[in-house]
Amino acid sequence: MTASPQTVEPFDLVIFGGTGDLAARKLLPALFHRFLDGQLPPSSRIVGVAREALDDAGYRAQLREALIAICDARQLDEFLQQVFYRPLDARKDEGWDDFAAFIGAEPEHVRVFYLSTSPELFVDICKRLGHYGLNRGKSRVVLEKPIGRDLDSANRINDAVGQVFDETQTFRIDHYLGKETVQNLLVLRFGNALFEPLWNSAHIDHVQITVAETLGVGHRGAYYDRAGALRDMVQNHMLQLLCMVAMEPPSSLAPDAVRDEKLKVLHSLKPIDASNAGQLTVRGQYRAGVAEGASVPGYIEELGNAKSDTETFVALKAEIGNWRWAGVPFYLRTGKRLAHRVSEIAVTFKPVPHSIFDAASGSLAQNRLVLRLQPDEGVKLWLTIKHPGPGGLRLRHVPLDMSFAEAFGVSQPDAYERLLLDVVRGNPTLFMRRDEVEAAWRWAGPILAAWSDGGEAPRPYAAGSWGPSASVALIERDGRTWHDDNE
Ligand code: NAP
Repeated sequence: MTASPQTVEPFDLVIFGGTGDLAARKLLPALFHRFLDGQLPPSSRIVGVAREALDDAGYRAQLREALIAICDARQLDEFLQQVFYRPLDARKDEGWDDFAAFIGAEPEHVRVFYLSTSPELFVDICKRLGHYGLNRGKSRVVLEKPIGRDLDSANRINDAVGQVFDETQTFRIDHYLGKETVQNLLVLRFGNALFEPLWNSAHIDHVQITVAETLGVGHRGAYYDRAGALRDMVQNHMLQLLCMVAMEPPSSLAPDAVRDEKLKVLHSLKPIDASNAGQLTVRGQYRAGVAEGASVPGYIEELGNAKSDTETFVALKAEIGNWRWAGVPFYLRTGKRLAHRVSEIAVTFKPVPHSIFDAASGSLAQNRLVLRLQPDEGVKLWLTIKHPGPGGLRLRHVPLDMSFAEAFGVSQPDAYERLLLDVVRGNPTLFMRRDEVEAAWRWAGPILAAWSDGGEAPRPYAAGSWGPSASVALIERDGRTWHDDNE
């Protein structure tokens, strides 16, 4: 059954950083797909903004070149008629009067200002949006990650944005929350009677969250080297996933009902600091190796041989200090240039208390629910069954495997498609509230401090591997292993 897309009211969506990588790779393709589904009302405008001196035609030509490989040419040209460009420097006043006139003063018109620039510009852009009267009625601002590089800098950005836009107008995007599987986690947990009674420390042994990339830092080295894996992945995406797994049932899907529950999880995370970071965390940095069949350089070479102690890999063991999760470890692992590209949440249940099967039947494996975010979004439930046919009772561990694309015969919309329209509709459920960002930094900050005070370099690992061997040791010390579907 395919649902028809819901209508949206006409809107203007301004992308600051409209000539950047994110705009070309994610935002414009997402908007194009919504256009194809009839969710871009004809009077809606998408406006790219950056310093480059371009006019509408020049910007459209640039986008055409970037998108033509993934789009039908005629449809793309139709879409581009709704795309405009205004050259502006976020740090200078020149041109802002004209820009404000172009956007117009109609109070009830939905205006979305998407800040797809470096976060250093967020404050300047918001100040000018306020100064030039662009915050009216239904104006909204979208903040891309990273929001700061620590609690102080995040607070500075949030304070400055808050001078112009109130919290209900501020959408802090974490595109992981727009992924089908993450929303499906809500449905699996709270739409089935099956899981919730088991969703606690009495029945769950541990949870693993893996976000593994095969790519290196590529052209984003300058940004990445200032961030590292903990800031780039753990503080935001992975903690958000952890919250969705661990939160109490919200009373409804109302934005604050869900975000209140996530916040409680963040507040319940046990601290990791100088006293225990050595036991609970592993940081690594890739060296040259073979990734996806090709020889690839190490991180330092990709950066241009600069010296760097930035981690490209993190594994850690987090614990949530509350009744539901006491004693259940959440192992988080993320890195670049790893063996496979995979993002998934694996929930492993406790072993059966007593086996009635003899040793010849084979060993009993623990049940595991795996939610795959990418590639090929889907759900697998690993069960023990009897191998069919004669030969005695032979136990087999096999998955009930549902690929969403196969099961529903439709390709999954990109997370940005869903989230962009949520902003247009003014629905912040899948966006981070300020207090969530602060709580996440409060937890991540002491880990970063422990690493920097400890002075140890990240452990080397070969590109194409699963990270430093210390990461394997981190989980094996507890008698567990990392989940790998490709094994
Ligand atoms: P990018 O390719 O470096 O693009 C930056 C954009 O900002 C360009 O359009 C640039 O154009 C514009 N810009 C720079 N200085 C400006 C100024 N003073 N006034 C107005 N515009 C200015 O960056 P990106 O990769 O698209 O990333 C954008 C943001 O998204 C960053 O915060 C990044 O961390 C975040 N993000 C990116 C990705 C990704 O995959 N790329 C993923 C997640 C989050 P001009 O130089 O012509 O002004």
